[in-house]
Formats: sequence, structure tokens, C-alpha cells
Amino acid sequence: MKKVMELLKEHFGIENATLKKVEGYGKSINFQVCTAQGEKFVYKQYQTESGLYELLDAENQALQKLLHQSTNSYPTPVRNLKGKFLSTIENGKQLIRMLTFVEGEFLAEVKHSTDLFQSIGRFLAQMNKTLLDFYHPAIGARQLDWDLQHCLNNRKYIKYIGTPHQRKLVDYFFLQFSEIVLPEMPNLRRCVIHSDANDWNLLVRDDKISGIIDFGDIVYSPLINELAIAITYAILGKSKPTEWACHMIKAYNEILPLEKKELELLYYLIAARLCTSVCNSAYNKIQNPDNKYIIVSERPAWEMLEKWISISPIQATNEFKRSAGLKAKVYLDTETDLKRRWRYISKSLSVSYSQPIKMVKAAFQYMYDASGKTYLDARNNIPHVGHCHPKVVQAGQRQMALLNTNTRYLYDQLNDYAEQLLAKFPEPLNKVFFVNSGSAASDLAIRLAYTHTRYQKIMAVEHGYHGNTKIGIDISPYKFEGKGGEGPASYILKAPIPDTYRGPYKNNDGEAGKLYAHEAINLLNKSGKDVAAFICEPVIGCGGQVPLPKGYLKGVYRAIRAQGGVCISDEVQTGFGRLGEHFWGFQMQGVVPDIVVLGKPMGNGHPLAAVVSTDEVARSFENGMEFFSSYGGNPVSCAIGLAVLEVIEEEELQKNALETGSYLKQKLSALMKSYPEIGDIRGFGFFLGIEFVKDRDTLEPHTKLAGYVKNRFKENEILVDTDGPHENVIKIKPPMCFNKRNAQQLIDELEKVLNTYPNNN
Ligand code: PMP
Repeated sequence: MKKVMELLKEHFGIENATLKKVEGYGKSINFQVCTAQGEKFVYKQYQTESGLYELLDAENQALQKLLHQSTNSYPTPVRNLKGKFLSTIENGKQLIRMLTFVEGEFLAEVKHSTDLFQSIGRFLAQMNKTLLDFYHPAIGARQLDWDLQHCLNNRKYIKYIGTPHQRKLVDYFFLQFSEIVLPEMPNLRRCVIHSDANDWNLLVRDDKISGIIDFGDIVYSPLINELAIAITYAILGKSKPTEWACHMIKAYNEILPLEKKELELLYYLIAARLCTSVCNSAYNKIQNPDNKYIIVSERPAWEMLEKWISISPIQATNEFKRSAGLKAKVYLDTETDLKRRWRYISKSLSVSYSQPIKMVKAAFQYMYDASGKTYLDARNNIPHVGHCHPKVVQAGQRQMALLNTNTRYLYDQLNDYAEQLLAKFPEPLNKVFFVNSGSAASDLAIRLAYTHTRYQKIMAVEHGYHGNTKIGIDISPYKFEGKGGEGPASYILKAPIPDTYRGPYKNNDGEAGKLYAHEAINLLNKSGKDVAAFICEPVIGCGGQVPLPKGYLKGVYRAIRAQGGVCISDEVQTGFGRLGEHFWGFQMQGVVPDIVVLGKPMGNGHPLAAVVSTDEVARSFENGMEFFSSYGGNPVSCAIGLAVLEVIEEEELQKNALETGSYLKQKLSALMKSYPEIGDIRGFGFFLGIEFVKDRDTLEPHTKLAGYVKNRFKENEILVDTDGPHENVIKIKPPMCFNKRNAQQLIDELEKVLNTYPNNN
């Protein structure tokens, strides 16, 4: 203090001032100086380093330019006794300067109002407008991780973030930044911006912004970053953040009109700033483990990131554009869109809902449509670890840029993935064939069974579905007995669906399983005992999420094997931890199949599927005929498959399926007390079914109600589907990152919808 007093006297002629230390970020030591005359200043002292003099000089020039716009809103450099704004001391080791003190309360500490938010917009626009024609090479040369244009530098801190869930959020938004913002960066207008208009730097008087302090982050960056940064901090803790943001945008735009391309990036820039903030908090926490302030200050940013992912970027961008007087993006109306589709695409490919949804983007358990709605996805199990999971996307991107070829060459990805995948199976399942769809996998599984057993007949289960190839349809009663189906082919045996809810045997303590197995075995005995394979799903999905009763597979497998056949488990729907308790569905039945069919979740939406078999079965297939799939097991698919396995492990998604799935099932079951139309709640983990009936005794299906629920859910932005032979079962099979809040939303919505269902229907 004494030293500072002396310096103040020597360089500024100030005596008898009172000094107060001011905590600040950045590299300077700061004091508030209050002179005997009542004038206030901020004194700053810096360690000299290369380029600092030029930078501070540049900052001072910017501040002087701003002084012409408004006298009391910005810190103004104060001349020393030699008439200079910067003084060197201690043989050039230190630099000192003084700025005027800007009065006001911090934005962080005052009540927020619409007027105040408009004033933030106006203030920033005026500041930016004044600096539009200002440039200094020392500012232009700065490289700061906090400069939003360089935010991807903060990726290096992701590893310090505490939970895999939080890491993936940050990774996701940085990925969106690199895909959406970076390519546009060269086209954005740049200027010198403050770059840190946070709520501890903006000052308020009489419900208006009166000033801004701390130009320590001043950079030459895209202009829109100024507003993006200010919005990021101003909206923290707000339940309707985009509405608040729009007040700022509207007012800003009235003074300095924003460009369409700037507004179209705003959603991602705000997300990127949140990510920069939490990345730095994570890193600083490691550096200063005892600093509780970091934990408190990072919480609102994390809460906003969680919220941001559930806000549709389409909706937010439309709002931002409208508030700046621009039109929202217009998509084709549904009718024209459909007409265009049917011009090129066969009507045998159906579209869900009478008013189909036009999807534009998706993130984890959320899907965003063209109208700006965010749908909670409780239906799609293909994006197993979540839509557009950054780890999976980046694994694919990277490998696609390096090498994509086929299994006729050696490459590590094939062996690496095969090793990791097979490690998930019990012996003797130790060989894998990679293909590109569940259908191709089912088809190949049947071919393996043929070459291994030399029999021709296949036993499949009523209402089961296994694929769209010729063989696929032949082994899928769901198809050959459904609309347009031609009945069973001569080589097909159809075992009755072992349904303990609707079928003849209901006692699921082992008795029903045994009795249903007997029915299948009787069929087998009658057929002449030359069945090559029995194929069955562990929970029959298209049949209406029907779980196999206890002991069923044990009984059937034994009989099939005794007459020389093999057993196939179709895990396309149920595999990869979805059922919660076990990684594979067959494990629920305590059996080990000879062949396993894999698909859907395996590549998180990338076309990746496989057949896993025993060595013995695989060897029978080595009969001289080459098996070749152009794409099966290519390096890109393998890299993606590996990433999916890693994410399941890292994010403990099987555990989540068990815990959140059980919670959901339990809460749904509790609704049965109040709603007699819920006939059954069944399934495991994240593979559940709700069966609606008109009467719990007669089990008369309530198809209309199931359709009503599905459609009302859609209106209220939740995706589910209906299925089963009577189309009266709601299927729930969300991405595995579906959380308890999501589950609660679904439960609340179901209750609401059931309450509104008209009684006379
Ligand atoms: N098996 C089951 C159990 C399925 O549900 C499906 C697809 N619905 C398939 C096989 C076929 O998979 P894909 O659509 O990838 O060909």
C-alpha cells in the first residue's frame, strides 16, 4: 500500500488518497483510489511481459474512442505527470496505469426487468458501433481461449469435468460449434469487442445499464460474439432464457442491425460460451481444490447447459430472428413435402402419424422438428447411447477421414472391435460376422444354421419379426401373417407366442414357461424333428413387448438341440444393456444360444449389424464359398461400434436402463390402480410396454385408446409408438440416456392424457 501511495504521488501527483484492494481477474494488481477531493480511480499494476505495453496502449486507445461516445460509462485512461497513459517502473519490470472509476451496481446484484435487458442490448450496440472502425494490431494478434472464436481450445479441459454426462454435453456443443459455426466464421464481420460483458462487468443505475468495466479480454472477433457472451450470462437462472435473450437482441438490433447469418449462429455461440465457462471452472477446480466459490459459480452455467439441450435450436433461432425483424426459416408444408416424397419413394414405406413430423436435428434423448418443437424421444432405440452422441460421431468422422475399406485387407479396427464385442459374450460364442442391417444378420444366421445342421425347417415365434429379406419375411409371422402377407412358407413352424397376459397360461413362476415350451416342442415332434433352427426374441417387440416367461427358452432350446437344430436369439431390439439387468436378453432366460443376431443399437444409427456364433457353427460355414459383405466390418463401422461400447461403459448406461427403467415401470404400474384401462405394464429396463384394454376380465383390446395416447403424446412433444397384434400396446424404448426427469414427464403426461380421454370412445 505504502509503495502504491508513493507511486501515485510520483506518477500522478496524487497525495492523501485512500486505497482499497480490488479483486480482479487477469494479470494486474488493482486498487480503488479515492482522492481527498472525492474523485475515484482504479490503479492497475502489471508484470511486464512481451507485447503487454502494446496491448495496454491499444486498450487505452479503444477506451479513449469510447470516451467520445459517453463520458461516464467506460473506464477512461488517466494521464501521468508526463502526459502518458502508461508508466514503466522498477527498470521496466512493472507497468502501471490509472483509469477512471465507473459507478453503478453490478448486473448480477440487481433485479432484472425487460427494460433493463433492452438497455443491455442498446448499450452493447452503442459500444460496438463506436468501435466498428477501430483496429489495433496488438488486439488483432491476441489469442485467448476465452475469445469465443477460439472456444474449441477449451476442449483440452473437458477431461477435468466431473461426470461423463456433463462431459458429453460439452463435447456435443463444441462439436456443433465446429460443424455449424466454424465454417461460417470467415463470413462474419469482425471488430474489436469487449468480449466479456458478463453480469459482474455490466453496471446498472436506475434499471438501465450505466457502464461496463474490465476490458482485459478485448479482442478482434466476430461482432456477434459480443452479444452472445452478454446473453449467456444475463440468462443464467432464467426459466425462459430465449425470451430474455430476445429483449436484448431486439434493442441491440435497433441501434446496430444484426445480420441473418449472425442470428443463425447465436444459439450455438451461447452454448459454446457456457461450455467455455464450465471447462475453465473444471480446470480451476483442479488447480484450487478448496475454492468453494468455483463450485457455486459454475452451477448456474451447468443448469443452463442442461436446459439448453432441451431447447430446440430451430425454435430459439426463429425467436432470435423474429426479434430482429427477420423471418423465421420456412419449411415446406407437410402436404407438399409428402407429395414430393411419394413422387420418389414407394408408399410401402410408411410415415408415422396422420400429420407426420419433419425432423431437422436431434441431441441425445431429444429430437427437434422443423416447427421448432423439442420432442422427448421415448421411442427410438436405434440411437442407443443418444442421438448424435459426440463420441460416436467423432469416431466415425475421424475414421472416415483416415481409411475406409473392406475385410479383404488387414486393419486393426476389425480385430479391435471384434475382440471388444465378443468379450461381451459368454463362451462358446466366439466368432463374429459383420453385416449392415438386422435383416442381413437374420438372413445370414439362418444360412449358418442351414450349413451347420443340413436341415431345412425353421421354427419362429408367433408375431415375431426378424427382417425384410426373403428369408427375413419367411421367418417373421408379424409379416407373413400381417397385411399383405402370404402365410407361412412350407418350411416354417410357428410356435405360439408365450404371452402370460393374453395367452392361455398366465402363471409366470415357471409353469407358463414350461407349458408354452411344450406347445413348441409338440410342434417340433409333429414336424418330423428335422428343424435347423429356432429363432426368438427375448422380449417379442412387434408382438407388443411380450417378455418370455421363465424357463421358456431352456425348454425349447433343449428340444431343438436334441433333434440336431441350433438356437438363435434375435437381440436386435434387446441387446447392448437395454434390458438393464443383463447385457443380452438371452441371459434373462439363463441360456446360451448357438447364434445371436445383432443390429439397431450397435452403431447408434450407423448401419452396423452382426451375427455372433460358436466356433463350431462358424466352421461349418467354411465350406469353400466365400462370405463377403462390401460394408460389413469396414473400419468406419468398427470405429463407431467401438465408440458405442465405450460410451455404454463410461456412462453406465446399462445401470441407467435398470434404475430409470425400473422407476418408470414402477410408476406406470402404480397408475394401474386409478386407470382400469391399463391392462398390463411389462418389460425390463428401457424396453417396456403398456397394454390398454376395455375390460380387465375379457381383455378386450383398447386399440383406440392406445392410438389416442400416442397422438396426444405427440402433440405434447413426447414420442412413443403402438404395436402388438391388436395395436393396443404403447412401446417405450428410449435412448439409454433417458433420465428420471424424462421418465417423470412421461408419467405425468400419461396421467393427463388418460384423464382427458373421452369416456364414450
Ligand atoms: N430383428 C428384430 C427383432 C427387429 O426388430 C428388426 C427391425 N425392426 C430386425 C430384426 C431387422 O433389422 P433391420 O431393420 O436393421 O434390417
